[in-house]
Amino acid sequence: MFNKILIANRGEIAVRIIRACRELGIKTVAIYSEIDSNSLHVLLADEAYPLDSNPKTAYLDVKEILRIAERAQVDAIHPGYGFLSQNPKFAELVEKEGFTFIGPRAENIKLAGDKVFARKVAEKAGLKIIPGSHGALRSLKAAIKVSEKVGYPVIIKAALGGGGLGMRIVWNDEELTRVFNIAREEAKRGFGVGKIYIEKYLPNSRHIEFQIVADNYGNIIHLGERECSIQRRYQKLIEESPSVVVDEETRSRIGELAVRFAERTGYTNVGTVEFLYNDGEFFFIEMNTRLQVEHGVTEMVTGLDLVKMQIQIAGDKPLDIDQRDVSLRGWAMEVRINAEDPLQDFAPSPGKITDYREPGGPGVRVDSGVYEGFEVSDLYNPLIAKLIVWGRDRSEVISRLKRSLKEYVISEIKTTIPLYLKIVEDPDFISGNITTEYLIRKMPLFKESIEEEALNIAAAIAIAVTETKLPITPMPIAAEKSSGRKTLKKVPSGFSPWYLMKWLKRVR
Ligand code: ADP
Repeated sequence: MFNKILIANRGEIAVRIIRACRELGIKTVAIYSEIDSNSLHVLLADEAYPLDSNPKTAYLDVKEILRIAERAQVDAIHPGYGFLSQNPKFAELVEKEGFTFIGPRAENIKLAGDKVFARKVAEKAGLKIIPGSHGALRSLKAAIKVSEKVGYPVIIKAALGGGGLGMRIVWNDEELTRVFNIAREEAKRGFGVGKIYIEKYLPNSRHIEFQIVADNYGNIIHLGERECSIQRRYQKLIEESPSVVVDEETRSRIGELAVRFAERTGYTNVGTVEFLYNDGEFFFIEMNTRLQVEHGVTEMVTGLDLVKMQIQIAGDKPLDIDQRDVSLRGWAMEVRINAEDPLQDFAPSPGKITDYREPGGPGVRVDSGVYEGFEVSDLYNPLIAKLIVWGRDRSEVISRLKRSLKEYVISEIKTTIPLYLKIVEDPDFISGNITTEYLIRKMPLFKESIEEEALNIAAAIAIAVTETKLPITPMPIAAEKSSGRKTLKKVPSGFSPWYLMKWLKRVR
């Protein structure tokens, strides 16, 4: 099939792809920016080549990447997710230069990348779309007409938008008048084209998506759904498969529709058809033409390896399973470990990882791009690791997730772990009562609780310091406790007893 694959990415996903290649006996080539020379993907790949350009845009440097592919004599290029993964021009150039692009064909990427067009195709394939504009909006007048027809609130979206960016909720004509041109300009600036459209805003929805796999011979299957309703700023934080609201009948009905949509566009490789689930109905929102961050939960419940499947399909192998071979076993959940401070509105938290210990044990998988001593940069996606947990049922998954989160030590950078520790104890989350607005509603409570816990730990440290008669004065900590939040700066996240011990040792 392939001898050598270049991975045009970094971090945990580059590591994930290297692992699949290793198992398939394929050599790997990593690329890295100046600040990534000690990254895990560089250490694990068979060969690694530096990118000369500015670290911020290095992984987008098509020319340089193709030059390295040529020099390293690779057969194929895997783009991972993000960066160039959904850039049709890149996919086209890769093929033109004689390499195989591990992903769908450029025209599929292009079609799905334009959400206005994708909506039309989806509707023709029999999928319900969210009421809204039928094409791109040409004027404010047209925008007002559509919005009044479908009813406020509406959401303005950039046709080429992605990553939760380029969306704006609008509540009335006045607001629409005020932001219409701004939204167009933002779309142009952010995504190169000022094309925008409108959808009715569907409150209290669930985000549910279907995984599709298609080979080059017209065989297409779906691998069930993932629910990704726990989000911040329209970006996923926690994903699970299956979803509590999808039964066997619904799974095959909606899965079949997603397959039909993919079929209609001659889709190949892996892809995801995303829906908003509202009032018992599934509304198409978009198709993602790449491996998703959350592919791991599907792998855990189906027992399949999506990255290997991607490589095999790109290598022209027909699928060796059909729909009847696919069944979901048990339950899986993923939490995205981001280098962000949940107490500071998810502000990036770059810096050196001074202590690092991953959880393990039954049903636990960690896909990580970091290690102890690694310097996390704020130039890239804040996702540093994914904790993916499997259990026989949802309740076993939640208890496993809870104990794994408690085992996970990452300091001194701030991460989303303390937030997840609150979510896994929340009765609404435990009962599956979640929507895309869940976190907005719950965040003030979670924040308060995290802060309170940090103060308690600070107090515990102060007491421990006093009792062990350490040669430092505990007073400033105790004093700060009473005077408010400053203490938080002194007490890192990762509130385990193990951490407390380490902290004390360092103080000593
Ligand atoms: P992106 O491509 O930027 O990820 P999506 O269209 O996939 O954008 O939407 C991301 C998230 O935005 C959804 O999961 C949902 O939370 C929210 N969203 C998008 N469209 C709507 C809508 N019409 N009504 C309510 N929420 C929406």
